Amino acid sequence: MNVKKGLLLVIFAALILSYFLFDLGQYLSLDYIKNQQASFNALYQENPALILGGFFIIYVVVTALSLPGAAIMTLAAGALFGFWVALVLVSFASSMGATLAFLASRFLFHDAVQQRFGERLKKLNDGVRKDGAFYLFTLRLVPAFPFFVINLVMGLTPIKVRTFYWVSQVGMLAGTAVYVLAGTQLGQVESASGLLSPELIGAFVLLGIFPWIAKFIMAQLQARKVYRGWQKPDHFDRNLIVIGAGSAGLVSAYIAATVKAKVTLIEKHKMGGDCLNTGCVPSKALIKSARLAWHDKEADKYGFDAIRSDFRFSNLMARVHRVIEKIEPHDSVERYSELGVDCRQGEARIVSPWEVEIRNGDNIETLTARSIIIATGARPFVPPIPGIEDMDILTSDNLWEVQEQPKRLVVLGGGPIGCELAQTFARLGSQVMQVEMLPRIMPREDDDAAALVTASLQASGVAVMTEHKAVRFAREGDDKVLYVDHNGEEKRLVFDAVLVAVGRRANTDGLGLDELNLPTNGNGTVTVNELLQSRYPNIYACGDVAGPYQFTHTAAHQAWYASVNALFGSLKRFTVDYRVIPWATFTDPEVARVGLNEQEADQQGVDYEVTRYGIDDLDRAIADSNDHGFVKVITARGSDKILGVTIVGAGAGDLIAEYVLAMKHGLGLNKILGTIHIYPTMAEANKFAAGEWKRAHKPEGVLRWVERFHNWRR
Ligand SMILES: Cc1cc2nc3c(=O)[nH]c(=O)nc-3n(C[C@H](O)[C@H](O)[C@H](O)COP(=O)(O)OP(=O)(O)OC[C@H]3O[C@@H](n4cnc5c(N)ncnc54)[C@H](O)[C@@H]3O)c2cc1C
Repeated sequence: MNVKKGLLLVIFAALILSYFLFDLGQYLSLDYIKNQQASFNALYQENPALILGGFFIIYVVVTALSLPGAAIMTLAAGALFGFWVALVLVSFASSMGATLAFLASRFLFHDAVQQRFGERLKKLNDGVRKDGAFYLFTLRLVPAFPFFVINLVMGLTPIKVRTFYWVSQVGMLAGTAVYVLAGTQLGQVESASGLLSPELIGAFVLLGIFPWIAKFIMAQLQARKVYRGWQKPDHFDRNLIVIGAGSAGLVSAYIAATVKAKVTLIEKHKMGGDCLNTGCVPSKALIKSARLAWHDKEADKYGFDAIRSDFRFSNLMARVHRVIEKIEPHDSVERYSELGVDCRQGEARIVSPWEVEIRNGDNIETLTARSIIIATGARPFVPPIPGIEDMDILTSDNLWEVQEQPKRLVVLGGGPIGCELAQTFARLGSQVMQVEMLPRIMPREDDDAAALVTASLQASGVAVMTEHKAVRFAREGDDKVLYVDHNGEEKRLVFDAVLVAVGRRANTDGLGLDELNLPTNGNGTVTVNELLQSRYPNIYACGDVAGPYQFTHTAAHQAWYASVNALFGSLKRFTVDYRVIPWATFTDPEVARVGLNEQEADQQGVDYEVTRYGIDDLDRAIADSNDHGFVKVITARGSDKILGVTIVGAGAGDLIAEYVLAMKHGLGLNKILGTIHIYPTMAEANKFAAGEWKRAHKPEGVLRWVERFHNWRR
């Protein structure tokens, strides 16, 4: 911090300190002003300029220093000077004081905050640059946030000083008027009966309902701006249209039907979406078969001479489809129709903020609804690697139709899908080369977790090729070849099939978003706010198409918010809660996570402690020959508050549930330690991790006294 900043900080601190030290707050209380009202009035009559000027300066100083008392002073101004004089006086004084506080915050903290949190503030900065005046106007008009907090926080953003001043002046005018009006009524309270005067009651009612009125006005203003140029239908066929019958769409439609709304669910392909047809279900079914096949290699470990699991690959795939068929009824048109959902087959396109066109062959139908939910999911991203167009690439979309097991399989991508499938095919006997350009696989997970999974993939026979960049594909004679670059050296990989698993892209093509001018993010997902509303407040998005998570359970979680907000948003709206989001990768060992891992805690500058329990020590794991992996818990330093957990081991996806519950409901490690866990189970690992934490935090001083006590008793 430079000298100027230091000096300013000292001056501010000294002024604020003296306010509290000399108890200056007593002069900014309603009682004091009321008691002194007669003498103030007399002084004001005698020398109006001096009193007005003095009041103005004090008001500016109080607001510039962010001291409490601005609201009281506004009421007092109304009481002392009358409505119009007080309104003008306070309006200018508050805007100037606010701007001084804003400038101080900018001068002292802007650079440091932007430097430290710049990356995380990027979205906020972009939003403020684009719509800063509007944001500020909303904040000023709806006095839900304290006045001084807005001044200080806005100073940290890139909003222009000029914009800040005039928006504050205009935005605060209505609120100031309400407070001043209430103040004028206070001034007339002479007796107890005066307290019940209709004017005073009216002024306070206005004060109470003002935020709601302001909020309503803002919503109307914003809506008019967004919907300009569109003709809203006089009435709607339906309450809700949901586009896409994957996890997000199904749950949205289910909730709408349950609360008796008229809802239409449109699906262009298969009910159940990716999870049922090409994602979680088929992958987990094949993983199970591969785990059984892997027992051949583990016969010795379990005391067998040999285990033989002969199989035909096509039969394994037939089982995968039988599993899908068995789950299909859960997501079927029949079930949803019975629940009261109007299910339609066809490709949907949004043609206006309230109209959706459904195209099914030559049939085109247009439906209207008060709200629309986009739940169109995502598809595998295929990178534009030269030559890829000449390969019959496999992705999670078409993999499940393969009948012949590839002998040599290249898996592009070291994320969860790539790892699960690389291990699965290797365990079924394919020669798998997994190509990942980053220094390690599973880049989002804990370093130790990634290391364990890498070792396990390698033990399963996968050639894990990190820091290998796919450069080009080629057909050379009968060979299909992938050239990869590894630290400047080119390698040639010959393969029979290539599975591309390098990420997923939101499905927004053909939905009509461009015509609606409905923005998407850099990664293609639909831009939504914390209520999951798009630019049009009646159009929502949830699931993979909205992100930021791309899991079935997060799609369902978001669907609740999207459907409830879409149907009841005019009464009550709910902000989507992303605080405790768990997920798992179903490799062997599984990797499950909730909350922060160590790397993220470091990046976010969190003061944390790590507790690790090795599952190699767990009785049940040893009995099952599953004695590998760990439970790693991140807690706030000096407290048992859980900030995040990573579990690597057999059944980690199930084990993590206990920590998810604990985090969701604010239960710390002491509570987990105090809970009985059945012996011998894998779940004991959770308790033992809590025990490790307790051991590291035992009260040494108290124990020394307890030891003395026992010595004395012997
Ligand atoms: C191989 C693989 C394994 C996975 N494993 C897991 C796992 O173990 N656990 C987990 O939580 N997640 C897993 N996922 C992710 C999970 O499948 C997705 O997060 C989930 O399916 C997202 O649901 P959704 O409803 O957002 O989208 P989707 O399930 O993709 O559904 C979107 C639906 O919208 C339809 N649609 C699109 N455009 C239109 C249109 N214009 N008109 C009408 N219909 C349209 C599509 O046909 C589709 O049916 C896995 C994914 C893959 C690929």
